[in-house]
Amino acid sequence: MNSTYNYNGKGIEDFKLAIKNSRKIVGFTGAGISTESGISDYRSKGGIWDRFKPVLFDEFISDQSKRILYWQRKQELWKDMRNALPNSGHMFFKSLYDKKKLIGLVTQNIDGLHEKSGLPQDIIVNLHGNNLEIICLSCGIVEPAEKILNDLDLERGAPLCERCGGLLKPNTISFGQNLKERDLTKANELSLCCDLMVVVGSTLVVQPASSFPYIAKKNGALVVIISLSDTPADGYADFVFHQKMGEIAQLITCEES
Ligand SMILES: [Zn+2]
Repeated sequence: MNSTYNYNGKGIEDFKLAIKNSRKIVGFTGAGISTESGISDYRSKGGIWDRFKPVLFDEFISDQSKRILYWQRKQELWKDMRNALPNSGHMFFKSLYDKKKLIGLVTQNIDGLHEKSGLPQDIIVNLHGNNLEIICLSCGIVEPAEKILNDLDLERGAPLCERCGGLLKPNTISFGQNLKERDLTKANELSLCCDLMVVVGSTLVVQPASSFPYIAKKNGALVVIISLSDTPADGYADFVFHQKMGEIAQLITCEES
C-alpha cells in the first residue's frame, strides 16, 4: 500500500482498505472541497481577493473607511455562505466521524460547512477562523454572523459591539493577522498522532498547510491527496487522486467500510 497511485480501480480499492484499517484519521481541507457547494475559491483568479486589494488587519483597526470596505466585501461573500450546504465531501468526513475513525479535521476554509455537516466543533480546527461568527475585538464576545449581517446598514458606519462599543469583525484571520497559536498547536498534534491523513482541495502551497501532511507522513501515517491540481505533497503521498472530491466520496461511501 505504500506506493503512490494515480487514480485507477486499484487505487480506490486500496484507499477503502486504508480507511478500514485506520483508527485515527485526520482530515485537512482547503477551498477545493467547498466549490461543489457553490462557494468560489476567493484566492483563485477572478476571485474576490484577486480583484481587490485586501484590507490589512492594521488598516481595519485604524481606518473607518477601510472597515466599511471590509464589511462591504463580507456582505458580498455572505450571500454565498449563508445558504451554502455541505456536499458529499463534507459528509464523507462526517461518516468517518460517525464510525469513530475521525479524530480531527483541520481546515483552511472559513465557510463553516464542516460544522453544518454535523461534525462537533471540538474536533474542527479552523485555521483561518470562521465566517459564520462575529467577534468583538475588545471584549471577545462571539455572536452568530447571521444576527449582525442580516441587518447590517453600512450607511450608519461599521458595526459596533452592543455590550462594550468595541469594533466587531468576522471571526476570521485577516491579511496581516497571525494564525492562532492554539490552532497551530492542535493541527500539529493531530498530524503527529494520526494514522491516515486525507487532504482534500488544498493546493498545499502555503505554510503551515504544507507542513501538516509532511509531519503525518514522517510519523508513519498514510497520506491521501484529493485535489484537482498538483500539490507539493504528490511525490510522497501514498494515494493521489486528481479528481473531484464528490466523485471520490461517491466511490468510497457506496459501500460500508
Ligand atoms: Zn464587546
